Amino acid sequence: MNRRRAVYPGSFDPITNGHLDILRRALGLVDEVVVAIAYNHEKPSGLFSVDERIEMIREVTAAFGEQIRIDSFHGLLVDYARRAGANVIIRGLRAVADFEYEFQMASMNRHLAGDVETVFLMADEQYFYTSSRLVKEVMGFGGDASAFVPSIVADRLREKFKS
Ligand code: ADP
Repeated sequence: MNRRRAVYPGSFDPITNGHLDILRRALGLVDEVVVAIAYNHEKPSGLFSVDERIEMIREVTAAFGEQIRIDSFHGLLVDYARRAGANVIIRGLRAVADFEYEFQMASMNRHLAGDVETVFLMADEQYFYTSSRLVKEVMGFGGDASAFVPSIVADRLREKFKS
């Protein structure tokens, strides 16, 4: 039987409880999700390196076992999805603010690859305001945003900001 595989792309810098909630929901719809970190090696950006991000994702998704794969890619997402054997792209929607950008991306991806479907999922309402950017901002100024990330991620953030 053909396994249904989806790609969940993003920066995951670092992975948050919001990402994990979306991942859990996606696994209710497909057999396997590839968490794929988008990067640009000509313009590296972010707080954590791609390897550090992968390591954290691996630790916090270990319980999902074979249902999760972790990878990184650069270039067009639809090309990557095809290479990975996935015909579904998972994206999460928080507030209305996410919609405009996501709508543009999904429309462009549909233009580029009509056979790849983008599926939007809504996280639980407790995660509506969780974003990697906000967590980094708060923890960077010494605030406690540990409720929004898995504990090993909170530890890595504290370490990062200490140095
Ligand atoms: P961000 O957009 O916060 O920088 P990513 O690029 O890593 O984070 O996000 C990857 C995907 O996960 C995007 O579709 C984003 O909308 C979604 N996502 C991130 N955080 C949440 C959340 N708290 N609730 C729902 N979706 C989320």
